[in-house]
Amino acid sequence: MKFDCIIVGAGSMGMAAAYFLTKAGKRVCAIDAFNPPHTNGNHHGETRIIRYAYGEGVEYVPLALRAATLWQQLEQQVNKHLLLRTGVANIGDNDNPFIHTVIESAKKYDLPLEILNAEEIMKRWPGIQVGDNMIAAFEPTSGVLRVEDCVAAYKELAINEGAKVRINESVQHIAFGNTVKVTTANNTYEADSCIICAGAWTKKLLQQYNLPLNPIRKTFAWFEAEEALYGEANFPAFAVELSNECYYGFPSINGAGFKIGRHDGGETVNPDKALREFDVSDTADLRQFLATYMPQVGTLKEGKVCKYTMTPDEHFIIDFLPEQSNVIVATGFSGHGFKFSSAIGEMLAQMVTDGKPQLSNELFKLNRF
Ligand SMILES: Cc1cc2nc3c(=O)[nH]c(=O)nc-3n(C[C@H](O)[C@H](O)[C@H](O)COP(=O)(O)OP(=O)(O)OC[C@H]3O[C@@H](n4cnc5c(N)ncnc54)[C@H](O)[C@@H]3O)c2cc1C
Repeated sequence: MKFDCIIVGAGSMGMAAAYFLTKAGKRVCAIDAFNPPHTNGNHHGETRIIRYAYGEGVEYVPLALRAATLWQQLEQQVNKHLLLRTGVANIGDNDNPFIHTVIESAKKYDLPLEILNAEEIMKRWPGIQVGDNMIAAFEPTSGVLRVEDCVAAYKELAINEGAKVRINESVQHIAFGNTVKVTTANNTYEADSCIICAGAWTKKLLQQYNLPLNPIRKTFAWFEAEEALYGEANFPAFAVELSNECYYGFPSINGAGFKIGRHDGGETVNPDKALREFDVSDTADLRQFLATYMPQVGTLKEGKVCKYTMTPDEHFIIDFLPEQSNVIVATGFSGHGFKFSSAIGEMLAQMVTDGKPQLSNELFKLNRF
């Protein structure tokens, strides 16, 4: 059978795209090397932050707001609570450029945002300790997505709409042309168009394009924490921007413990090789951060490893491949893509059906490199 579209990589972006495309009446085959949601890619670890007043660029706000609308629709469609409105506190020195872009984004799009000084931060959240110059830009309407449940929800809907989801089948080769031929160990699939969103593996699949992608090993960990101080009812998700470091974290949700990770840094890895397991050396910077800023967080419970797929400017790649009007690549989500995956799935579907997305992908075009 020839498909209208083959999706290579049915993870965060691919599974959402499979749903929107199938819903638009297209015959879709989504192929994944594992069985999403799984722990081999970029989408595990229970939680992801969703923010709308966006520090990485004002241009992201319409996409974030569209994503939020689609997450709410998805919750209704699968009758599950996927987005927890914990609020997100963006904390940093009062001259920090990221915090300033958060404020600018909120002003431009009239988003609710509270600015708290150091004293107000420590009064509102006694679990946080900050320096005198620090402020929080607190967005009360933002929060936390249950990451695996979101991927599972789009999978359920895509299959219900009629998408073929092929799991545990690794794509080995993609031949371009009017008909795209996608080869796995056991099969060759054909389609009129193709979306390649294979996360950290995209660079290898598209070797001839030498995409500027850098897969990085990342770690995150849960710590014991007093619920009264750090539980979801009393504590927000947060990003703390220091001059050379950035940490993000989550309140203890359903008693799971306080979760924290470091956003910057990390070692380049080969996505084909198993990541080095989380070990005590991974806790040093987290402990140092906690001792200064959240000193009442308790002992380590558990740590995990995951991957970011970085681009040099940390903006995404969502574009048609050069010379290929029927092949789209969506990758390089640089550690901040999950929140948008509902809207990016819709965007990718529009690129297949209409030749262009309704929201701009100008920031994500390949020709910027
Ligand atoms: C620790 C951590 C914390 C994060 N925190 C946040 C956050 O708070 N907020 C936020 O918005 N984002 C966050 N992110 C980023 C976000 O999770 C990623 O940007 C997003 O999941 C990327 O989606 P993707 O579809 O590119 O990758 P994936 O979801 O990994 O999907 C890629 C899929 O391609 C499949 N695949 C690969 N190669 C092949 C092949 N050859 N054949 C078939 N299938 C293949 C893989 O199995 C995988 O399922 C975080 C990421 C990490 C690791």
